Amino acid sequence: MLEKDIKKVLISQEEIVKRSAELGRQITQDYEGKQVLAVALLRGAVPFLAELIKHIDLDIQYDFMDVTSYSGTDSTGEIKILKDLDTPIRGLDVLLVEDIVDTGRTLQAVRKLLLDRGAASFRMVALLDKPERRAVDIQADYVGFTVPDEFVVGFGLDFNQHFRSLPYIGVLKDECYK
Ligand code: 5GP
Repeated sequence: MLEKDIKKVLISQEEIVKRSAELGRQITQDYEGKQVLAVALLRGAVPFLAELIKHIDLDIQYDFMDVTSYSGTDSTGEIKILKDLDTPIRGLDVLLVEDIVDTGRTLQAVRKLLLDRGAASFRMVALLDKPERRAVDIQADYVGFTVPDEFVVGFGLDFNQHFRSLPYIGVLKDECYK
Protein backbone atom coordinates (compact mmCIF):
# COMPACT_ATOMS: atom_id res chain seq x y z
CA MET A 1 0.00 0.00 0.00
CA LEU A 2 2.82 2.40 0.89
CA GLU A 3 4.77 0.97 -2.07
CA LYS A 4 2.77 2.95 -4.60
CA ASP A 5 4.32 6.22 -3.39
CA ILE A 6 7.92 5.00 -3.66
CA LYS A 7 9.98 6.13 -6.65
CA LYS A 8 12.97 3.95 -5.83
CA VAL A 9 14.36 1.71 -3.13
CA LEU A 10 17.75 3.01 -2.02
CA ILE A 11 18.58 0.40 0.63
CA SER A 12 16.73 -2.90 0.95
CA GLN A 13 15.67 -4.54 4.19
CA GLU A 14 18.21 -7.34 3.60
CA GLU A 15 21.03 -4.82 3.26
CA ILE A 16 19.93 -3.04 6.46
CA VAL A 17 19.85 -6.30 8.45
CA LYS A 18 23.26 -7.37 7.10
CA ARG A 19 24.88 -4.02 7.84
CA SER A 20 23.26 -3.86 11.32
CA ALA A 21 24.84 -7.26 12.08
CA GLU A 22 28.26 -5.94 11.03
CA LEU A 23 27.85 -2.82 13.17
CA GLY A 24 26.58 -4.93 16.08
CA ARG A 25 29.67 -7.14 15.94
CA GLN A 26 31.96 -4.11 15.89
CA ILE A 27 30.13 -2.45 18.80
CA THR A 28 30.26 -5.71 20.79
CA GLN A 29 34.05 -5.78 20.38
CA ASP A 30 34.55 -2.10 21.17
CA TYR A 31 32.42 -2.10 24.33
CA GLU A 32 33.38 -5.42 25.90
CA GLY A 33 33.33 -5.13 29.70
CA LYS A 34 31.60 -1.73 29.67
CA GLN A 35 28.17 -0.69 30.89
CA VAL A 36 26.56 0.67 27.75
CA LEU A 37 23.43 2.79 27.60
CA ALA A 38 22.03 3.06 24.08
CA VAL A 39 20.10 6.33 23.74
CA ALA A 40 17.72 6.33 20.81
CA LEU A 41 16.25 9.56 19.52
CA LEU A 42 12.50 9.40 18.99
CA ARG A 43 10.90 8.60 16.80
CA GLY A 44 13.01 7.82 13.78
CA ALA A 45 15.69 5.70 15.46
CA VAL A 46 13.30 3.09 16.92
CA PRO A 47 13.37 0.53 14.04
CA PHE A 48 17.15 0.81 13.74
CA LEU A 49 17.62 0.42 17.52
CA ALA A 50 15.42 -2.69 17.45
CA GLU A 51 17.43 -4.23 14.61
CA LEU A 52 20.86 -3.23 15.93
CA ILE A 53 20.51 -4.50 19.50
CA LYS A 54 19.75 -8.01 18.22
CA HIS A 55 23.34 -8.08 16.99
CA ILE A 56 25.07 -6.62 20.07
CA ASP A 57 26.21 -9.43 22.34
CA LEU A 58 26.35 -7.35 25.53
CA ASP A 59 23.89 -6.66 28.34
CA ILE A 60 23.20 -3.15 27.09
CA GLN A 61 20.45 -0.94 28.43
CA TYR A 62 18.46 1.44 26.27
CA ASP A 63 16.44 4.57 26.82
CA PHE A 64 14.77 7.22 24.68
CA MET A 65 14.96 10.97 24.20
CA ASP A 66 12.93 13.28 22.01
CA VAL A 67 14.51 16.58 21.06
CA THR A 68 13.74 19.36 18.63
CA SER A 69 15.86 22.20 17.31
CA TYR A 70 14.91 25.70 18.31
CA SER A 71 13.86 27.55 15.19
CA GLY A 72 16.64 29.71 13.85
CA THR A 73 19.19 27.54 15.55
CA ASP A 74 22.75 28.11 14.38
CA SER A 75 25.90 26.10 14.77
CA THR A 76 25.69 26.38 18.56
CA GLY A 77 22.93 23.80 18.01
CA GLU A 78 20.56 24.54 20.87
CA ILE A 79 17.87 21.94 21.31
CA LYS A 80 14.68 21.69 23.30
CA ILE A 81 14.06 18.42 25.15
CA LEU A 82 10.54 17.12 24.50
CA LYS A 83 11.13 13.87 26.38
CA ASP A 84 14.14 13.33 28.59
CA LEU A 85 15.93 10.12 29.55
CA ASP A 86 14.67 8.23 32.60
CA THR A 87 18.14 6.81 33.25
CA PRO A 88 20.84 8.74 35.16
CA ILE A 89 23.80 8.60 32.81
CA ARG A 90 26.70 9.62 35.04
CA GLY A 91 29.50 7.14 34.54
CA LEU A 92 27.80 5.22 31.73
CA ASP A 93 29.18 4.70 28.25
CA VAL A 94 26.54 6.30 26.06
CA LEU A 95 25.91 5.11 22.52
CA LEU A 96 23.56 7.47 20.74
CA VAL A 97 21.43 5.75 18.11
CA GLU A 98 20.22 7.98 15.27
CA ASP A 99 18.34 7.38 12.04
CA ILE A 100 20.27 9.89 9.92
CA VAL A 101 22.94 12.55 10.37
CA ASP A 102 22.11 15.46 8.13
CA THR A 103 23.41 18.89 9.21
CA GLY A 104 24.85 17.25 12.35
CA ARG A 105 23.32 19.86 14.65
CA THR A 106 21.18 17.41 16.59
CA LEU A 107 24.14 15.14 17.21
CA GLN A 108 26.36 18.01 18.28
CA ALA A 109 23.81 19.36 20.76
CA VAL A 110 22.90 15.97 22.25
CA ARG A 111 26.58 15.08 22.56
CA LYS A 112 27.26 18.24 24.58
CA LEU A 113 24.21 17.72 26.76
CA LEU A 114 25.03 14.13 27.66
CA LEU A 115 28.72 14.75 28.26
CA ASP A 116 27.79 17.70 30.51
CA ARG A 117 25.66 15.26 32.51
CA GLY A 118 28.68 13.12 33.22
CA ALA A 119 28.55 10.29 30.68
CA ALA A 120 31.84 8.38 30.84
CA SER A 121 32.03 8.37 27.05
CA PHE A 122 29.90 9.26 24.07
CA ARG A 123 29.79 7.64 20.66
CA MET A 124 27.17 7.61 18.00
CA VAL A 125 25.82 5.09 15.55
CA ALA A 126 23.67 6.29 12.65
CA LEU A 127 21.87 4.13 10.13
CA LEU A 128 22.39 6.80 7.46
CA ASP A 129 24.83 9.61 6.86
CA LYS A 130 24.29 12.49 4.43
CA PRO A 131 27.73 14.14 4.48
CA GLU A 132 26.94 16.63 1.71
CA ARG A 133 24.54 18.43 4.04
CA ARG A 134 26.83 18.75 7.03
CA ALA A 135 26.79 22.20 8.67
CA VAL A 136 28.92 21.45 11.73
CA ASP A 137 32.16 19.52 12.06
CA ILE A 138 30.93 16.27 13.54
CA GLN A 139 30.52 12.69 12.42
CA ALA A 140 29.09 9.43 13.66
CA ASP A 141 31.51 6.83 14.98
CA TYR A 142 29.59 4.03 13.26
CA VAL A 143 27.63 4.55 10.04
CA GLY A 144 25.36 2.10 8.29
CA PHE A 145 25.19 3.69 4.85
CA THR A 146 26.20 6.95 3.23
CA VAL A 147 23.35 8.40 1.17
CA PRO A 148 23.23 11.21 -1.40
CA ASP A 149 21.54 14.53 -0.72
CA GLU A 150 18.02 13.25 -1.32
CA PHE A 151 15.07 13.16 1.08
CA VAL A 152 14.63 9.56 2.17
CA VAL A 153 11.85 7.74 4.04
CA GLY A 154 11.32 4.36 5.65
CA PHE A 155 12.86 2.26 8.43
CA GLY A 156 11.80 4.94 10.91
CA LEU A 157 12.27 7.99 8.69
CA ASP A 158 9.09 9.92 7.97
CA PHE A 159 7.48 12.41 5.67
CA ASN A 160 4.94 14.30 7.83
CA GLN A 161 4.83 11.29 10.20
CA HIS A 162 4.06 8.86 7.37
CA PHE A 163 6.18 6.10 5.81
CA ARG A 164 8.05 5.25 9.05
CA SER A 165 6.83 1.66 8.88
CA LEU A 166 8.33 0.91 5.46
CA PRO A 167 10.86 -1.90 5.99
CA TYR A 168 13.45 -0.32 3.66
CA ILE A 169 14.89 3.10 2.78
CA GLY A 170 13.34 4.71 -0.26
CA VAL A 171 12.71 7.94 -2.11
CA LEU A 172 9.18 9.23 -2.61
CA LYS A 173 7.60 10.00 -5.96
CA ASP A 174 7.61 13.70 -6.80
CA GLU A 175 3.81 13.95 -6.63
CA CYS A 176 3.89 13.12 -2.90
CA TYR A 177 5.34 16.56 -2.21
CA LYS A 178 2.57 18.42 -4.05
P1 5GP B 1 20.46 17.06 11.75
O1 5GP B 1 20.47 17.74 13.07
O2 5GP B 1 21.61 16.12 11.52
O3 5GP B 1 20.29 18.03 10.61
O4 5GP B 1 19.08 16.32 11.76
C1 5GP B 1 18.87 14.99 11.68
C2 5GP B 1 17.36 14.78 11.66
O5 5GP B 1 16.76 15.40 10.51
C3 5GP B 1 17.08 13.31 11.52
O6 5GP B 1 16.99 12.68 12.77
C4 5GP B 1 15.78 13.30 10.75
O7 5GP B 1 14.70 13.39 11.65
C5 5GP B 1 15.80 14.56 9.91
N1 5GP B 1 16.22 14.26 8.52
C6 5GP B 1 17.36 14.64 7.92
N2 5GP B 1 17.44 14.19 6.65
C7 5GP B 1 16.30 13.48 6.45
C8 5GP B 1 15.79 12.73 5.32
O8 5GP B 1 16.37 12.59 4.23
N3 5GP B 1 14.58 12.13 5.50
C9 5GP B 1 13.87 12.22 6.66
N4 5GP B 1 12.71 11.58 6.71
N5 5GP B 1 14.32 12.92 7.74
C10 5GP B 1 15.53 13.53 7.63
